[in-house]
Amino acid sequence: MKITKTTMPKSKPPVDKLGFGKYFTDHMLIMDFEDGKWKEPEIVPYAPFAMDPSTSILHYGQGIFEGLKAYKNKEGKITLFRALDNFKRMNNGCARMCMPKLDIDVVYNALVELILLEKDWIPTDPGTSLYIRPTLIATDTQLGVSSGTKYRFFIILSPVGSYYSTGLKPTKILIEDKYVRAPLGGTGEVKCMGNYAASLLSGDIAKKKGYSQVLWMDSNEHKYVEEVGAMNMFFVFDGVVKTPALVGSILPGITRDSVIKILKSENIPIEETRISIDDIKKGFENGTLNEAFGTGTAAVVSPVGVLGFNGKDFEINSGKMGKITEYLYDRLTGIQVGRYPDPFGWVIPIN
Ligand SMILES: *Cc1c(COP(=O)(O)O)cnc(C)c1O
Repeated sequence: MKITKTTMPKSKPPVDKLGFGKYFTDHMLIMDFEDGKWKEPEIVPYAPFAMDPSTSILHYGQGIFEGLKAYKNKEGKITLFRALDNFKRMNNGCARMCMPKLDIDVVYNALVELILLEKDWIPTDPGTSLYIRPTLIATDTQLGVSSGTKYRFFIILSPVGSYYSTGLKPTKILIEDKYVRAPLGGTGEVKCMGNYAASLLSGDIAKKKGYSQVLWMDSNEHKYVEEVGAMNMFFVFDGVVKTPALVGSILPGITRDSVIKILKSENIPIEETRISIDDIKKGFENGTLNEAFGTGTAAVVSPVGVLGFNGKDFEINSGKMGKITEYLYDRLTGIQVGRYPDPFGWVIPIN
């Protein structure tokens, strides 16, 4: 693979300033699709792209992305978490969005090379990691609305601290009863760029009301809960963990899948099912809704302390993190950083 190294390495940000997705490493990976095939991937210095103003991604949003993490321990061992699953999911997104599929071996090997080149950028403090953002965009320069012939795949890397600046504190989430994220048959189950643009208005309204995010409901009946902006949702009713089934409008999270597998391996009851607003209200009223949490690569496991609905706030577990939530956070982050053994084959050492 061709590697062009930067002549102007950046200084690394202090660990306590990292935040999420604010700083980027010295290099990136790019790979173009032209004349019906993928070219060789290349590593180049991190820099802006020059784009013709007619480039189709800028008009019609034919683009998808992924998010995954690499970890480094104090001894310098670097690992990836379930990276191949991310590229498989990206290929599902390619099929839905009429984009050419990636050769998973090629992009995986190229990613490993990029990370090894940037290994000094991987933070080692607890809660920190290197966030990896593979992205695929349409780059044809014409204004007709049609699937394209030219594409660019790229990967950028960002050292990150804890996703929530406030730490692992239970969040306040507003159940969205007007706007919807994804209809059945839409693009909700792929990480397609437009999904996130469409969610911003609800997010802004929720923030003005003092909530950090919204919980989306199904688009048909506005009756069943689906997921949060970039997290899948779990609820614990009377010791039974429940999560919305993947009906087509919900993003199949890899963290969601990991949590389900951990619960199954511990014989903690877990159901993929439909969860209605009424189930949640009833759970508050009769005290059987014990816990709620979200799952996603960025935050891993995030406790929910308050659910807002129809002008009322429902406090879960007195606004404190629940036992199962805490257990899953500890277990999953422990497996990711090597604090616990990995019986699932999720952790991939790369050096
Ligand atoms: C990325 C994402 C998730 C979480 O997926 P992970 O693979 O666990 O990171 C959940 N919902 C949406 C809408 C997402 O974009």
